[in-house]
Amino acid sequence: MSETTSPTWSSASSSNPHRLLHLGHPQGTPARRAPAAGADRMGYMSSLSIPAFAAPRQVLLAAPRGYCAGVERAIDIVEVALATYGPPVHVRKQIVHNLHVVKDLETRGAVFVDELDEVPEGATVVFSAHGVAPSVHAEAKARGLRVIDATCPLVTKVHQEARKFAAKGYDIVLVGHEGHEEVVGTMGHAPRAVHLVGDEEEAARVEVADSERVAYLTQTTLSVDETAGVIGTLRERFPVLAGPRSDDICYATQNRQAAVKTLARDCQLVLVIGAENSSNSVRLVEVARAAGCQAHLVSEASSIDPAWFEGVDTVGVSSGASAPEWLVDELVAALRERGATEVREVEVIPENVHFALPGTLRRDAEAVRAGGARGTAAGVATRAVGRPGG
Ligand code: SF4
Repeated sequence: MSETTSPTWSSASSSNPHRLLHLGHPQGTPARRAPAAGADRMGYMSSLSIPAFAAPRQVLLAAPRGYCAGVERAIDIVEVALATYGPPVHVRKQIVHNLHVVKDLETRGAVFVDELDEVPEGATVVFSAHGVAPSVHAEAKARGLRVIDATCPLVTKVHQEARKFAAKGYDIVLVGHEGHEEVVGTMGHAPRAVHLVGDEEEAARVEVADSERVAYLTQTTLSVDETAGVIGTLRERFPVLAGPRSDDICYATQNRQAAVKTLARDCQLVLVIGAENSSNSVRLVEVARAAGCQAHLVSEASSIDPAWFEGVDTVGVSSGASAPEWLVDELVAALRERGATEVREVEVIPENVHFALPGTLRRDAEAVRAGGARGTAAGVATRAVGRPGG
């Protein structure tokens, strides 16, 4: 894992936390983050019917919002794999939890599958950012697949912690949501040691073999405040509870929640752009509501209910870590067209995090570039691997 200056939107953040935005696309989001071809993007936009409504006077944009370093890296991996090896590139599960991203990558030659038995033997397969159990790696090996692992390095860190505590004979209480892909993957790294709990009530009931050899881990995308309560319950029951140096909730989840919490103080309504299966997006809505603000999750601008805006003077806008920035741009443009006169970004925490591509993919992409193969595709590979820290 490496952390360097992010080339994405965070680098454009102003030192003025309340700077006035004059343009519809103020953050210089890379164009490739919109659907690939102009026709595709226009297709999405023209197929959407954004309802008529009287927009609030003021729009506050949360910063940070949107793509985290793990999502950037996962999408880069699929794009560079397509450019380097050529389509089709199979991807196990949604590479990140956003259908727009998935559809866009499909148009470029990615093939999304649920399980590895749908991937032809010898083909290239990418594992999603949420991580997988070791059994999935073993199955891929048995089928002779070329694996590119897009697991976020911060999820890999949780996997390592699970294996470490299991090897020491600890019972591991994993705080997370049953059935979430990340949780399924993490449990697979210590299947006999992990007990999954979802809330304080379950933490109060969980049974372990030895109360002096208990460790906790968490899913990376939980509510910071709720998780603190669950860990507090575990500590009361198991005073020598072991755990990671800090909890496993990742920097991006924490920063986006802090930004929404700040925004909620000045808004009557918060809209979070994200998918229903995106854990961190759903948590942002919960955080805004817990702060006393009306809040809704919207997959895109067309999902807006005009009734939400009644009596609202200031609306806050944020987006989950897997939501492309063009969805925010589209929503902000719709708000402007419908009467919003002021759009301000509220930067709560600056972010500068970037994760490098896997070494093998980076070297293969560089070889393609050096060989001049794949024409335009080589250009894509060059651009991605040439990023700072890439
Ligand atoms: Fe990684 Fe956090 Fe992003 Fe998940 S939300 S991909 S853990 S940085």
